[in-house]
Formats: sequence, structure tokens, C-alpha cells
Amino acid sequence: MLIVMDAAATVEDVRRVVGAVEGLGLQAHPIPGAQRTAIGITGNRGTVDPGAFENLPGVSEVIPVSAPYKLVSRESKRENTVVSIGGVPVGGARLAIVAGPCAVESEEQAVEIGRRVRDGGAGLYRGGAYKPRTSPYSFQGLGVAGLKILARVREETGLPIITEVLDTDTVDVVAEYADCLQVGARNMQNFSLLKRLGTVRKPVLLKRGMSATIEELLLAAEYLLAEGNYDVILCERGVRTFADHTRNTLDLSAVPYVQRISHLPILVDPSHGTGKRSKVLPLSRAAVAVGADGLLIEVHHEPERALSDGPQAILPEMFRELVDEIRRLAPVVGRSV
Ligand code: PEP
Ligand code: MN
Repeated sequence: MLIVMDAAATVEDVRRVVGAVEGLGLQAHPIPGAQRTAIGITGNRGTVDPGAFENLPGVSEVIPVSAPYKLVSRESKRENTVVSIGGVPVGGARLAIVAGPCAVESEEQAVEIGRRVRDGGAGLYRGGAYKPRTSPYSFQGLGVAGLKILARVREETGLPIITEVLDTDTVDVVAEYADCLQVGARNMQNFSLLKRLGTVRKPVLLKRGMSATIEELLLAAEYLLAEGNYDVILCERGVRTFADHTRNTLDLSAVPYVQRISHLPILVDPSHGTGKRSKVLPLSRAAVAVGADGLLIEVHHEPERALSDGPQAILPEMFRELVDEIRRLAPVVGRSV
């Protein structure tokens, strides 16, 4: 259920409604909008009597929310959410260009790639210090040393940092260094991790699981909002299908589908989506054309020596060309870089 306040409602009116909701043993989630505030209600097992709120001062209407994901739904908030990652907006008219290596391998490697993606037009840097690897014998990431290197990259380049968090044990240390915490595809339904990240005051980049439906993706995001973290960015990164010409099948239809039913921003990751360097540029064009709020691109200056995901990493000069193309394409869909 959603309680919509009128435009003239005061802070005190909102507080009174929140108190009434909590008085029933439920959780209230005030969602400020451009015109008026809405208050989402969660925690109810059955229906809640709208009469409990309808006559409170400042209440305009009480409406049932039919979607199972209440807070991420457009029924709760009509306007698009814009998430700020260290001052860089994700979800507005400007496309968010996120780039960096799959894994932080050394300070030299991470800083070199950082400088080159910044010069090529990236607004955000992403690199893994904790890597979810299919094989336990593959490079697992540098851990805390990698986080410290990421802080150096931020100092050197001025780019805010996104990095993956694998488990609840490392949430605090990752949040200490990162501007935004990534939840990888393999962890999309790690509910204890999601609940914990819901209490963290840093944005979360939530990647779609490789066999997750859109409803499952949105319900995973709902865990974060339900715990109080509204700064959530979704990411389409490809799903498993019978097709084996690419690593995954990039499901670009997810973008307009999500945008119709949710207010959260959604990025596209054509690097993991295709697994192939030569396919990153064409699928980036397509992602922007379909309305994505930004791109997540893996870049490496020596991809043949990369410790993970070398075959899909594009070279810094290819990245520069990609951003130049996107810059020309973006105005067609009412965006800019
Ligand atoms: C990554 O972003 O490097 C990664 C491991 O991606 P995904 O979780 O989408 O596989
Ligand atoms: Mn990767």
C-alpha cells in the first residue's frame, strides 16, 4: 500500500503518518517525489485498512500497490530515480559510463587503466578486489590490498569507485573504500548479503543473475530498499541461453521492460553480456539505443596478460572510440555523455 501526501503536506504531516504506520507494527518508507511525498508500507501480511490513514492531515490518497516489488515499482514513485555515486549521477539525462579492468591486479595496472579510461570519457571506475571465480584455482582478487589500490586510482583520476562485495563479512571494509558496492550476478539472490547492504549508506549496483527473471531481479532490489537503501542501480549483464556464440545472451529487452515498471536506473554490461571484445562496441550502441542509463565496460591495456576476463576486455583506444560513438548516438535518444 502507498500513502500519497498532497503537495502542501508538511514535514509534521509526513511524520504523523509514519507514526501511524509504525503504530500498526508496519514499516513506513517515505519516498520524496518532485511534487509530493509518497509513503510506502511494508511488513503487512494481509491487507491494511486504508481508513487508518485516509483522514490524517496532509493525506491525498491511499492506493494499493499491486506489484510484488512495492518500493522499486513505478506505482510507488513515478519519477526516475537518479543515484549519485560520489557526485556522478546515474539515471538522469547524462549516460553513466563505467569502465575499468575486471580485476585489480597491481597499482600500476589499475592506475594506468584508470587514467586511460578517464581520458577516454569514463565518469566512473570499476575494478574488482574480490572476484567471484568459477574455479577456486583462478585469481581471486587482491582483497584489502586491492581496495587500497582502488583508493589510489580515485586519488589519481578523480573518478568515483565501484567494486564488488562478495559476502557479508567484507561489507564494512568494502564500504569503507568504495563509492558504490557491486553485487555480482552470482550473488543476486544472496538474501543475507542484500539485507546487509540495505543498511549501508552507499549506493549498490545490482547485477542480474544469469538465470534470473526480471521479477526476481526487482525483488532482489526490493530487499535493499526495504532495508532502507534507496540508492540502487540495476545492471543487465546477459543471461544463459542455448546460444553459445557469445558467453551470455545480452537481454536488451530487459531495459525498456524494467523502465516501464520500475523507477530505478539500469545499466547494460556488454562485456560480460557477450564475452567477446569485438562485440562490445556494437552491443554498446544497441544498449544506448534501447534506452539504457549507462554502460559498464571492461577495459585492459594488456588484455592478453589480464588475470580475468581478458578476451572481453577492450583496449583503451577502443574505449575512446566507443565513447566518441556513443556521444554522437546519445542525442538521438535524448541523452548526452
Ligand atoms: C564482473 O563484473 O566482473 C563480474 C564478475 O560480473 P558478473 O557478476 O555479471 O558475472
Ligand atoms: Mn569481469
